[in-house]
Amino acid sequence: MSSIKLLIDKLARQHDLSDAELLALITAEEKNTNAWLSAAADKIRRQYYGDTVYIRGLIEFTNYCRNNCYYCGIRAGNRHAQRYRLTQEDILACCREGYALGFRTFVLQGGEDPYFTDERICALVAAIRAQHPDCAITLSIGEKPRASYQAYFDAGANRYLLRHETADAAHYALLHPDNMSLANRKRCLFDLKEIGYQVGSGFMVGSPYQQPQNLLHDLRFLQSLQPDMIGIGPYITHAQTPFKNEPSGTLAQSLRMLSLLRLLFPYALLPATTALGTIDPNGRELGLQAGANVVMPNLSPVGVRKLYELYANKICTGEEAAQCRGCLEARVRAAGYRIVTDRGDVKRQI
Ligand code: SAH
Repeated sequence: MSSIKLLIDKLARQHDLSDAELLALITAEEKNTNAWLSAAADKIRRQYYGDTVYIRGLIEFTNYCRNNCYYCGIRAGNRHAQRYRLTQEDILACCREGYALGFRTFVLQGGEDPYFTDERICALVAAIRAQHPDCAITLSIGEKPRASYQAYFDAGANRYLLRHETADAAHYALLHPDNMSLANRKRCLFDLKEIGYQVGSGFMVGSPYQQPQNLLHDLRFLQSLQPDMIGIGPYITHAQTPFKNEPSGTLAQSLRMLSLLRLLFPYALLPATTALGTIDPNGRELGLQAGANVVMPNLSPVGVRKLYELYANKICTGEEAAQCRGCLEARVRAAGYRIVTDRGDVKRQI
C-alpha cells in the first residue's frame, strides 16, 4: 500500500502526526493524495456534523484601513481603492434582511478604520444584539487592545475572527510592514480566547515566500490555540499591491490544507471561503467535499461589494443577498450537503 495512504489512515486515527509525517503530506506528489485526504476528511466531518453546512452572513462594513499589509487590496497605501463605510442603519438593515433569509450569525468585517471607535462599535453591537437576541455576533476588525475586545464582548459580541496569516515571525515580516508583528497578532488571539470569545484564526495558502515548513508551523500554532473556527483560502494577487507580480496560491494546495485541518481538528468550523470560490468556479463545493462545513455568503449591500476588494475577481459581487442564498443552497445540495438555519456553534464533542 502507498506510504502516503498509510499516513492519511494514521492521521485519521490519531488526529496528529510527527513533523516529518505532516510535512510528507503537505508536500506529497502522489497523484491520489488529495482524493484520499478528502475522503478521510469527509468521513470525520460527517461523524461530527453530519451533512449540515452552517451559514454566516458577512457584512463588509468599511474598507478604510490604517494598515499596509503587502498582499491586501484595501491596504492604506492603495490610492486607487474607492473607500466606503456603511452607517449603523445600513448594517442593521443587512441584518434584518439576513435574518429573514435564515441567517443566525452576522459577521461584521472591515479594515482597521479609526472612524469606528470603540464607542461606535459597542453601540453597533448593542443595537444588533437588541434586535436579534437569538443570533451570534462575530467581529472581524483586526488588532485591538484587550480593553477594546472586552468592551465589544460586554456589548454583546460572541465571536471574533482574526487570522494569524502565518505562524513564522520571519515570514510574517515579509508580508507586513515593520509596525506590525506576529507577536501582537498572537497576543490578540489569546486575549480574545481568555475574554470568552469563540475564536477563529487561519492563514493564506500560497502567500508569497511561503514554504512547506511555514504551513507546518501554521498547523502547530493552531494546535496550541485550539480555535473554534479555522479560515483558510488561497492567496490571490491584487494588482494594486506590492505583491502584484507574485503568483496566487493554488486550488489543490488549498484543498489539501483544508483536509489536513479537518483531520487534525475534527471539531472545527471550517469555512469554504470566498477566495476558494474565486480561484475556481467549483472551489467552494470542492472545499465542502474536502472537509469544510461553513459558508459565508455576502450580506453587504450590492453597491459596495466590489469595493471590498481584498483580491482580484472576487465572486458574488453582483447578486442580491436573497439570490446569493438561493444559489448557494443549490450548490451546497449538489455537493452532497444541506444548509441549516442555526447559530452553528462549534461541536467540541460528538
Ligand atoms: N482587518 C481584518 C480583516 C482582514 S480581511 C483583520 O485584520 O483581521 C480578511 C482576510 O482576508 C485576511 O485575514 C487575509 O487572510 C485575507 N486576505 C487579504 N488579502 C488577501 C489576498 N490578496 N488574497 C487572499 N486573501 C486575502
